[in-house]
Amino acid sequence: MSTDRVVDVVVLGAGFAGIAAARGIKNAGYKVITLEARDRIGGRAWTSELSGTKIEYGATWIHWFQPFVWQEFLRSGLSLHEDPWFPPITLHEHGKARPLDFDHFRERLSIGWNAFAKTSSDGHLLERPYQLEELEAAEELDSLSVQDVIDQLDIDDETKLLLSSEIAVQMNAHPKDVSYLSQLRWWSASGWDVALMIDCLARYKIESGMSDLASAMASNADLDIRLQHVVSEVLQSPNSVEISTTEGKKIRARRVICALPFNCLKDLSFTPPLAAEKHALSQEEHAAKGMKLLFKTVGEPEGHAVIAGPGEKPINLLNPIRVEGIERLYVGFGTDGTAFDPNNLEEVNRVLADLHPELEATDAAGHDWHNDEFSRGTWHMPKPTQNIRTLQAFDAPEHRVHFAGDYLGRGWAGFVDGAIESGIRTADEVIEALRKDKQT
Ligand SMILES: Cc1cc2nc3c(=O)[nH]c(=O)nc-3n(C[C@H](O)[C@H](O)[C@H](O)COP(=O)(O)OP(=O)(O)OC[C@H]3O[C@@H](n4cnc5c(N)ncnc54)[C@H](O)[C@@H]3O)c2cc1C
Repeated sequence: MSTDRVVDVVVLGAGFAGIAAARGIKNAGYKVITLEARDRIGGRAWTSELSGTKIEYGATWIHWFQPFVWQEFLRSGLSLHEDPWFPPITLHEHGKARPLDFDHFRERLSIGWNAFAKTSSDGHLLERPYQLEELEAAEELDSLSVQDVIDQLDIDDETKLLLSSEIAVQMNAHPKDVSYLSQLRWWSASGWDVALMIDCLARYKIESGMSDLASAMASNADLDIRLQHVVSEVLQSPNSVEISTTEGKKIRARRVICALPFNCLKDLSFTPPLAAEKHALSQEEHAAKGMKLLFKTVGEPEGHAVIAGPGEKPINLLNPIRVEGIERLYVGFGTDGTAFDPNNLEEVNRVLADLHPELEATDAAGHDWHNDEFSRGTWHMPKPTQNIRTLQAFDAPEHRVHFAGDYLGRGWAGFVDGAIESGIRTADEVIEALRKDKQT
């Protein structure tokens, strides 16, 4: 790459946001190059295999209530797989384990969620998930933590425990570290209904994997994606931006779309520096640094689901998600990504034995998204005050540098859907800017 040639747009990062943005720019007739640090595209969506069974280290489930990713799924021609529903559940509560009926679980969860979200005959706290800025009480709701609200709830202990366990899975972080508004956004986007929310979060996935969806989007647009290009510097001059990589390559563009994860923004050197609030937010990071565990068992007749309250066990929820003959694939989530090594079978089996005596893994895996320098966390989960501050601070580009990512999704922030939505909107913003650049 030479510094002399100026391309129209360089996109940083080939996750769903970067791919959607690059496709929009390319389809508008501009020259666009995407620089990706890893040796693969897809970012926090990564399909792999565990002893012959497809697994997703990262993003997995999609739903038709997530309009942007659903549209991509329909266009891709890929097939959908429905994960099996919960088998008998074991609940861990104050050091003891007991069986829990699924219908009872869902009923308590519905009561808990409606109390948590303060559902009333006047309607919902967040009526329009895509228009947070029009919500008068938005800043106040954003200033509270999930823990603040759970502590104040006037509901029975069992309902509180089930609600806290389920929300812990959704947050992938401790409830004191997450904004109340972050969870209200999920509740609102899934129609204020527990059954629908669980469907949106963990029922339908792409049979051949999310990496195939990323590839379909990139290859249909014939994108120019340069892998193993780790961007280190963004240097703006009046009419262009120079991007440098750690390998010493340089590329110049009229406009840049930075589609890196929120927690990685602080690793880039921006000249001039980012505006104060963008800089502050990037240093703070978002809260989700938890664990996703995948493992296989052989020969279990029914399978087991396990639920444990926050802090009770390293895993808050376990559920079998695929049955193939006598093999089962399980997924588990916990709030501490460093609690144990999901790739160490012995360690995994120690954790499982404590969750259910009949659970024994034959193989296990998980990716350390927490220590991965190109993600530094799992899905975007804003801390108290960060929802509103992020939308306000990143509303404007930094001169010729624009931003996209799951953290800027107006509806499903923290999801593939939000990443695609943001990429599409940012591409439109940049196309408009390129047209104006030409006129001046
Ligand atoms: C364990 C886990 C489970 C999840 N489950 C779901 C789910 O079921 N459903 C769902 O919708 N979402 C889920 N998510 C969230 C989803 O993965 C993300 O919201 C979405 O993939 C984010 O897309 P993005 O393009 O904004 O960011 P990313 O996918 O992170 O893409 C950013 C890209 O930037 C690259 N990059 C970083 N630094 C540099 C650099 N210096 N130079 C060049 N490139 C760089 C990265 O390698 C990456 O490819 C999950 C995430 C995780 C981690």
